[in-house]
Amino acid sequence: MSETDKKTAQLEEYKPSFTLKAEDYEPYIGKVRIEELKRLAGSLEGMGWANVNSTLMGGGVAEMLRSAIPLARGLGLQAHWYVIKGNSKFFQVTKKFHNLLQGIDQPISLEEIFGAYIDTIEENVRNTLITSDMVVIHDPQPAAMIMNGMIFGNILWRCHIDTSTPNYIIWRFLLPYINQCAGAIFTMPEFIGPGLQIPLYEISPCIDPRAEKNHQYSDKEVLDVLAPIFNEQNVDSGRPILAAISRYDIHKNQSSILKAFKRLCQERTYNPPPYLIFVGNTATDDPESGAMLQKLKEQAGNNPDVRFWVNVKDNDRVVGALMHIARGLIHVSTREGFGLVVTEALWQGTAVIGSKIGGIKKQVLDGRTGYLVDPLDVETIAAKMALLLDHPEEATALGAQGREHVRRNFLLPELVRRYLVLLSFYSATSRELPDFRLDDLSYSEILHTLRFRHPYLPEPS
Ligand code: UDP
Repeated sequence: MSETDKKTAQLEEYKPSFTLKAEDYEPYIGKVRIEELKRLAGSLEGMGWANVNSTLMGGGVAEMLRSAIPLARGLGLQAHWYVIKGNSKFFQVTKKFHNLLQGIDQPISLEEIFGAYIDTIEENVRNTLITSDMVVIHDPQPAAMIMNGMIFGNILWRCHIDTSTPNYIIWRFLLPYINQCAGAIFTMPEFIGPGLQIPLYEISPCIDPRAEKNHQYSDKEVLDVLAPIFNEQNVDSGRPILAAISRYDIHKNQSSILKAFKRLCQERTYNPPPYLIFVGNTATDDPESGAMLQKLKEQAGNNPDVRFWVNVKDNDRVVGALMHIARGLIHVSTREGFGLVVTEALWQGTAVIGSKIGGIKKQVLDGRTGYLVDPLDVETIAAKMALLLDHPEEATALGAQGREHVRRNFLLPELVRRYLVLLSFYSATSRELPDFRLDDLSYSEILHTLRFRHPYLPEPS
């Protein structure tokens, strides 16, 4: 057992050392939307919005909270972020929850559920009390906290994964906790699991345009950022690049990208020839990624046009700059919650060839921001690669529309706005039903759901 494994698991609060001003986002979304956000926040001044998740670093949830909490604070809210702690056994079990909820079968024992999982949650809540107007519990890891009687406020469960076809054992284990909440939030309607009896809402993940990765690089900056890795890897900056950026994971389906690229190069001759650059990190807690990368490299053989950039230095700037310079990003996952990498590439003005899967469909609008394909349809993926390479002006136009699509829908202020609308509704500041709700519960039906936990709301008429 490691040192961290021996420590008592204890919920910890992350306190950001800075706040973000709404005005900082005006250059991206304009004055009107900023004023609207400030007006909404003004009616909620001093109210609480707490969040609980399972990691401070790594992963999309932590990435979003890192910016959303400072922005909410800048808007006058009491925004808090708590992180549950667990040992490696706990996270092995919650990784199993994650896989099982997404429909992947794996054995799981009662000892794992009630020992490693429930015991760790109980340790986490032993000396904790969270009091807030709205408490958002992110994903299954902290879900069992919901009925521990240590959270006071309207609890919402935010599901970041696809639970449309969950393993029933684990889903039915979690369902009582979830149905105890005042509402649940999903990325898209098709991800909603069965048996939910509470109000449901839709919120998309978002990116922070002020983050280093999402900086709008000039052509000169791109070349400066990429010069070290281009030199090291002997990459010719004058050749077109197709980029594939993701973890090495079976669902990311890099193998189809490689097959499509090989097919493209067999069928056509380009001068200068394009590169296919895979970027990905293996230094995650995923034990399978190293083997997957190795297999992919074997599949590529000694093709000098296929490159693998693994655990790159200066990751965020390199990823942002590569996305900016690439002719297209290819992201054809067989399963995908949202795919932030697609959002980031579109924001860099780069067209995306994406699979018709999960959240990718919200972002890649076929023929408008890129092309949608079936993830295993290698022939069509190759044909779409050819389109981007043969018609650079069209690729630029798709990218420009992609950037606009992200600007309207997937930037941080929109994420914060939706949570504030929920806070406004659940604190009874406004009676208006959030316009992103996914079920047809009326206001009075929602009050029935809430009554016992929210004594200040009026009785349903
Ligand atoms: N990413 C990165 N470097 C890499 C590979 C991925 O910075 O080598 C980032 C990528 O830019 C994105 C995130 O990791 O921000 C992946 O999020 P996504 O939602 O696309 O996939 P997930 O890994 O969460 O399934």
